[in-house]
Amino acid sequence: MKIQDIQAVQLLLTTPKKIAIIPHRGPDGDAMGSTLALYHFLLKYNHEPIIVSPNEFPDFLAWMPGAQNIKIFEKDKLNCTTILEEADLIFTLDFNALHRTGEMEKVLAPLKAPFIMIDHHQKPDDYAAITYSDTSFGSTCEMIYNFISLLGKKQDIDKTIGTCIYTGILTDSGSFRFPKTTGDTHRIVAELIDLGVENTEIPSLLFDNSGFGRLQILGQALQNMKLRMEHKTAYTTLNQDELNSFNYVKGDTEGIVNYGLSIKGIQFAAIFIENADEKIIKISFRSQGDFDVNQFARDNFNGGGHRNAAGGKSVDSMQETIQKFEGLVTKISI
Ligand code: 5GP
Ligand code: MN
Repeated sequence: MKIQDIQAVQLLLTTPKKIAIIPHRGPDGDAMGSTLALYHFLLKYNHEPIIVSPNEFPDFLAWMPGAQNIKIFEKDKLNCTTILEEADLIFTLDFNALHRTGEMEKVLAPLKAPFIMIDHHQKPDDYAAITYSDTSFGSTCEMIYNFISLLGKKQDIDKTIGTCIYTGILTDSGSFRFPKTTGDTHRIVAELIDLGVENTEIPSLLFDNSGFGRLQILGQALQNMKLRMEHKTAYTTLNQDELNSFNYVKGDTEGIVNYGLSIKGIQFAAIFIENADEKIIKISFRSQGDFDVNQFARDNFNGGGHRNAAGGKSVDSMQETIQKFEGLVTKISI
């Protein structure tokens, strides 16, 4: 982060403000962790922070400190629009293009209040007065740790803030396995554990706490999986009927895409999940090594993300979407 940007943020935060904090639509552990960490930090300085999430967060993150105070735009558009319009300052965390907030973009785009973006995705849009964007970080939560430290306020990071930061680092690094996990990541985590962050309980709350439905959905996705070994590709699908039959709750499909990569010889994995309400197929892509799924998602499925983890969507039917994907797979070289 540039020194003049740090000073500008320090200046903005000298007087108490109404501050809206926005995660991306479909908030994951990193989006929730970074927004909640910043929320708890700003509370210490008598600001009035409010997290406005474009839509509901998954059940498996409901235990996070402060989650119960998050406003959900989709559930209460009038009230949330007022909050956004009255904000003096707006943080957008863990995304870098306003369309990642879905319908909320229409409210955000015309706002006059300054935006501060903190994010680790590629190709940031140019909407923020202050942009702290760095793709070398494995998570926005690790950036929030740095952000608070750069403001000279590292001593404010307590167990609550640490719990939020730890959660995002853990989830976005695939439990410290993905390539952007560095010595610094582990040093930060070590400090958080010293602050009392529950490093055995949190993974358990996140990963060992699901209903039977989630396992059945995983079973269905594994049944549906197709391999294209000559293109080092595995993909699977879940349609709405399958999800309904196992009493799907939000979050149940999180992480399933990674199973494809656990197969020997597979370097590219995808999952296609039907969302009948939104009339879209939501897609997740993962890769190991050099194949750039961010580019693949941008070029073909209206999406983006990182080199090894990206997502996108399709408004075609599941069958048409898969046909298109199959066609593309025959052309890629991995
Ligand atoms: P996931 O597959 O877990 O939903 O997302 C993987 C990564 O891709 C995340 O970093 C997420 O922010 C990004 N991503 C997921 N869906 C989209 C999308 O529709 N558009 C863009 N630009 N990025 C996405
Ligand atoms: Mn992230």
